[in-house]
Amino acid sequence: MTHEPATYTTSERTLGRLPSGADVAVTVHRYEGGDGPTVYAQAAQHGIELNGPATLRRLHEELLDTELAGTVVAVPLANRPAFDHRSYGAPPEFDVVNPNMNRVWPGDDAGTFQERLAAELWELVSAADAIVDLHTGTADMLEHVRVTEGDPDARRLAEVFGTEYLLVDDPEDTPGGKLRTAAAEADIPAVAVELENSRQVSHDAVDAGVRGVRNLLRELDVLAGSPEPPPEQTVLRDDPERTAAQASGLFELRPDVGVGDPLEAGSELGTIYCPSSYERLQTVTVTDSGVAYSLTREGVVVAGERLAAVGRRVE
Ligand SMILES: [Zn+2]
Repeated sequence: MTHEPATYTTSERTLGRLPSGADVAVTVHRYEGGDGPTVYAQAAQHGIELNGPATLRRLHEELLDTELAGTVVAVPLANRPAFDHRSYGAPPEFDVVNPNMNRVWPGDDAGTFQERLAAELWELVSAADAIVDLHTGTADMLEHVRVTEGDPDARRLAEVFGTEYLLVDDPEDTPGGKLRTAAAEADIPAVAVELENSRQVSHDAVDAGVRGVRNLLRELDVLAGSPEPPPEQTVLRDDPERTAAQASGLFELRPDVGVGDPLEAGSELGTIYCPSSYERLQTVTVTDSGVAYSLTREGVVVAGERLAAVGRRVE
């Protein structure tokens, strides 16, 4: 592997068409150095997740000015229809069947709108040797990297990324069609990064994103140098037993519960009230003991919705 100044090119890749005839495209940034692996970095599959595009923009400045052994391919806005609509998924007018792009990978060129876009993008994704998929969550979520259990290459990339929490999940319990799981099936190590806070750019989260992708590129020797040593990391296993609303109404979280807190199975998490009659509809209790890594705070909830994500500590 030789580190050489990168040749930078940018291009538009057409993924599909809107009814008006306008193209749905993505901008692809390619930084090509000496021999080495190809790393694909993508952000904003979910249109309200803005720290990913901000991370890739910051990283762009760095990659223009460095030597690489390998190629970095970056797509800062994987889902323009959702981004323009300021929505998590594609507008229902375009795809009522598959609004969530992260449930359709590796796509289907004869499928629904979102499946066709993903199939076009998959050609780029599947040419990579490693994949980083940048996401964000709610304000009440611990920053973490998610990785599929039993995939040591992906696990190593998740560790070097350097968040304090890692979340492993069993492919059997994971919904199909995630980019990360489709990549694992294609034998490409992939990590999904959950940086904080959708709908806004957080400088701390962007810093963590830039450091993380840089660490991952160093680990693969695409960038010279060693990754920064990660902090002491807590590994959690996702709970397939979701703590969910059994009634629709207005949810109030117990005020003394926060992310990072250890919770015991059966302990009280909050209450769902009927906002019209004031009736107490459900005292919500935690299904599995563990650490709360994501919480729904006050808000409107619909029966079946997840209210807390609690991960068991993996020793
Ligand atoms: Zn997301």
